[in-house]
Amino acid sequence: MINNDEFRKLAHEMADWMADYYMNIENFPVKPDVQPGEIIAGLPEHPPIEGESIHLIMQDFKRKILPGMTHWQSPNYFAYFPANASYPSLLAEMVTATLAAQCMIWDTSPSAAELEEQMMKWLIEMTGLPAEWEGVIQDGASTATLTSLLTAREKKTDFLINENGYSADNIFRVYCSTEAHSSIEKSAKIAGFGKKNVVKIPVDEELAMIPAALELAILNDIQSGFVPLAVVAAIGTTGTTAVDPISAISDICYKHQVWFHVDAAYSGTALILPEFRWMIQGVEKADSFVFNPHKWMFTHFDCTAYFVKDPKALIKTFEILPEYLKTFSRGKVKDYRDWGIPMGRRFRALKLWFVIRNFGVSGIQEKLRNHISIASKLESWIVDDPNFEMMATRLFNLVCFRYKPAAIGDEKELSLLNERLEKELNDSGKLFLTHTKVKGKYTLRMVIAQTYVDMRHVKAAWEQVKEVARSLF
Ligand SMILES: *Cc1c(COP(=O)(O)O)cnc(C)c1O
Repeated sequence: MINNDEFRKLAHEMADWMADYYMNIENFPVKPDVQPGEIIAGLPEHPPIEGESIHLIMQDFKRKILPGMTHWQSPNYFAYFPANASYPSLLAEMVTATLAAQCMIWDTSPSAAELEEQMMKWLIEMTGLPAEWEGVIQDGASTATLTSLLTAREKKTDFLINENGYSADNIFRVYCSTEAHSSIEKSAKIAGFGKKNVVKIPVDEELAMIPAALELAILNDIQSGFVPLAVVAAIGTTGTTAVDPISAISDICYKHQVWFHVDAAYSGTALILPEFRWMIQGVEKADSFVFNPHKWMFTHFDCTAYFVKDPKALIKTFEILPEYLKTFSRGKVKDYRDWGIPMGRRFRALKLWFVIRNFGVSGIQEKLRNHISIASKLESWIVDDPNFEMMATRLFNLVCFRYKPAAIGDEKELSLLNERLEKELNDSGKLFLTHTKVKGKYTLRMVIAQTYVDMRHVKAAWEQVKEVARSLF
């Protein structure tokens, strides 16, 4: 067993490994070249009976595990949306792991509960959300959206489904655009609404929800005897970061007394820049809002900020009070276990505190603007190159494009060509990007949001894209 002296020595060695890793991160292939089952094949079939040294475990980690990792913090990582991190966040995670506190209620760590309350206030101020809302940290936007829809269900039924379960007479309907994230459908399945009661509303040229189509769907549903329950709008869809018109949608929800949840999982971070506040015009009429500091706000996964207008409804939906959780402080403090699904909670506010204090709001703004300006440069290179084309409007730092040599007109052929281009690029290990479909067309996506990404990485990536593209056609 490791004693305190040995731990101190090992931890110093580990800190050196951590700093070395970040120093050398660009030398690793961003996406590993690994076949399914290959990692398992390198692992012993049975657990060791006798304990093994940390040195030996680390040696195997470097030999057997690290080669099968995707390097999410590499500045050559442009895939999906990032789960970006930063040095202050990493240092905070070390402290969090050291304390290893379980922060389910105020009494189990008053500082964790109160720091979380204050960080949610800071984020409200930083993003321009309504000052009277309250927030809570959750593990992911998917959980927050499920939490929101369950609260909507309970508020609509006077908290009776929690009590009695479903009766056959109510069929709830949830509305989102055809571009909305899959977590809404998943939530509808878990909440018992059924996938087929998620109504997909058509989008306009910019891939944003068409409010008139939403209202029509709600009216049709009322006529058919359904119960319109909730609308989920996106600020920044996953495919292309399209922004639904929040103000118009909130008016419709208000008029028909439908719950309104805003999913700003990725692009919510952009609200820290005043020039993007137009996106939340009318948000004060919404009921809940989610964004992920663990995507683009330099804070380690997991850290989702979930905000609500009516915390009482949230708490009433989720509260439980077994004897062992009864405390003297109850009612005077925030017991966050009642603000969501899991009971146990990590001390996640600490990393937000470290990040916001160490960067400062202006430091965060500077990073975001830098990412957006690099993305706009990439966009200009694509626009200027006759063999490439932009596939969706770039609002922030996601660039959607494809290779389109003049000689190829056939859509199927173009799709195949771009699919091959994506695979070749990712196999090179020099960068990692992913794809989506825009109006049915195969589209490459590059997200410029790595904490430590610079113009030189994107310039090199663009050269690589052009070179591999030319080698294919
Ligand atoms: C990433 C994303 C989600 C899911 O976020 P998790 O935190 O991974 O659950 C939901 N909605 C949108 C728009 C996203 O981009």
